[in-house]
Amino acid sequence: MTVPAQPELAFEPEAQPPAPVAAAADALAALRAEVARVFGIGELRPFQEEAIRANLAGRDLLLVLPTGGGKSLCFQAPALVRRGLTLVVSPLIALMKDQVDGLCENGVAAAMLTSAQETDERRAVHAALERGDLRLLYVSPERLAVDGFVERLVALGLAAIAIDEAHCISHWGHDFRPEYRQLGRLRARAPGIPLHAYTATADERVRADILSELGLVDPLVLVAPCDRPNLVYRVQPRRELSKQLREVLERHRGEAGIVYCISRKEVERVDAELRAAGFASVAYHAGLTADRRKRAQDDFANERVDIVVATVAFGMGIDRTDVRFVVHAALPKGLEQYSQETGRAGRDGLAAECVLFHSGADYFSWKTLMERSHEEARAAGDEPDATALERSLDRLGEMRNFTTRFVCRHKQLVEHFGQAWTTPGGCEACDVCLGEIALAPDSTILAQKILSAVVRCQQRYGAAHVTDVLRGAETEAMRRTGHDQLSTYGLLRANTVAEVRAWIDQLVGQDLLRISGDQYPILVVSPTGSEVLKRQREVVLYALPVARPKRTRGATRSGPLDGASDAASGGASDAAASSADPALFDRLRALRRALARERGVPPYLIFNDRTLEQMATSKPRTVEEFRAVKGVGDKKAADLGPAFLACIAGEG
Ligand code: ADP
Ligand code: ZN
Repeated sequence: MTVPAQPELAFEPEAQPPAPVAAAADALAALRAEVARVFGIGELRPFQEEAIRANLAGRDLLLVLPTGGGKSLCFQAPALVRRGLTLVVSPLIALMKDQVDGLCENGVAAAMLTSAQETDERRAVHAALERGDLRLLYVSPERLAVDGFVERLVALGLAAIAIDEAHCISHWGHDFRPEYRQLGRLRARAPGIPLHAYTATADERVRADILSELGLVDPLVLVAPCDRPNLVYRVQPRRELSKQLREVLERHRGEAGIVYCISRKEVERVDAELRAAGFASVAYHAGLTADRRKRAQDDFANERVDIVVATVAFGMGIDRTDVRFVVHAALPKGLEQYSQETGRAGRDGLAAECVLFHSGADYFSWKTLMERSHEEARAAGDEPDATALERSLDRLGEMRNFTTRFVCRHKQLVEHFGQAWTTPGGCEACDVCLGEIALAPDSTILAQKILSAVVRCQQRYGAAHVTDVLRGAETEAMRRTGHDQLSTYGLLRANTVAEVRAWIDQLVGQDLLRISGDQYPILVVSPTGSEVLKRQREVVLYALPVARPKRTRGATRSGPLDGASDAASGGASDAAASSADPALFDRLRALRRALARERGVPPYLIFNDRTLEQMATSKPRTVEEFRAVKGVGDKKAADLGPAFLACIAGEG
């Protein structure tokens, strides 16, 4: 760990009486200058600025800002200019290590304390703390529990405490961590020290929990728009997963991505298939040894593999910001999981694609699984919360509605998280708004034909048989059952087997048909399905084939989180994506990989893709021009400038 010289202290520590307006403005100006010098970031985003003002004023704070919104800067920037130490609590060692390495790369005195460190290393950190050499210290909640630790930090001059992933403190959140509960004692252990909570997702209940558990006093609560405008959402019925998956991956050759599957078996199968097809992929699930999981994570972080095929167990702790696509091979079990998992794409603000392949059967697999685990918990004598199963099924139902409603995906997600959708017109970043979904003509009549065939078959046959009836198949089974005499026989003669099967699947997905039967799956009409037959309800069905999506690079709106000047400069990413020299971009990435290997850090800590794209666009020739690229601070300009300039000049 290197401990560089302290930056000039720009202002006094939070004085108790509110600072005069002029002093506050000075403090912010000093902070902006430091942020530009150290991180090469020229503009604070609107929410960052508000959060940072509160932070500098010594006020308690809760900031809810979507992934990629730039939460870290909100506690890192004040730490640069304020006297005293900023303590950061984070749940995962991998996350901490990444941030600490990143800060050190930028010349900021930061360190961490975890149980995974050697005694020597910990001792060095403690010594640096005692000398007052550190600006930021990252710790796990367990570490914080050590007797007298927090009290010692207070004695040494603790200025503020930042709690990352603060939703982990709440039972209502999707990622409750018992070790976070003890953070409730921080207020008493560090009296008068401002507490700042940060999270990407927290609905109202979770927010209320965070405020009360941490005992925040008169906090500023900021909830940023949760939309991720640079993500392009696509939802498609799953027909031939291998083929559909291949199409997505071909659009993203050489780029980073994650493929989520429901089961370990499916992970292994998909991973093997991808490798056989020449993709650099690796499997990741909870059934692998800790060693193999770690290797998979490292290989992905260090760009030795492009694609991780994983169960939901993979994600947190992955800070790679250039994930260009996330595929769900099946329906996730709720919109919280879905947005958390898709949220791992495009953290650098550049366009990324999220594709969800689903089938009507997914809903029922989840439902069975949920009911079974509820029963098992009961059998084991743990009386599960009676409403827990109901809540899980509600969440699953909402997830299914997301796939079957033909409403802008961004709008659906934003409204689900309790915010208003105010973008006029389409989002231009989802299959619905891009007009990629071809609907079947006369969907309601089509649905009635299928539902009535199910009724005529006395709700005793499966999808294959019903399809044969509708298509007028001339088979022994039709003759034997007399179903070739039904009025519905041959009603969909003009359609293919694939089409009819896909529509049946969609009807199941919309809960108009249900799959029942102990031995063989048979189709039955649900109560809502009956309403369709009575013409009391309209139905919308996809036509096949679904329109082929265009390549997504560049199909991005600039985010509401970006400052006006960011948008004025062409949304940064749009401009870069369109005019960057692709060959140079690839050379820069190769150089970044080599330097990362040399320094033993993941490549994205050298520079992120957004910064490389800018280099490949503006092609700086001097150190000054290089320093002007967004994301290049003083230390990196001096450290890395020569190597990158040589590469840009074609000598690399
Ligand atoms: P979060 O923790 O909210 O998911 P991060 O703090 O990891 O997001 O930031 C995501 C990316 O955005 C990082 O690459 C970071 O350097 C960049 N970033 C943060 N703030 C700004 C800003 N004001 N201007 C440009 N880039 C920024
Ligand atoms: Zn849309």
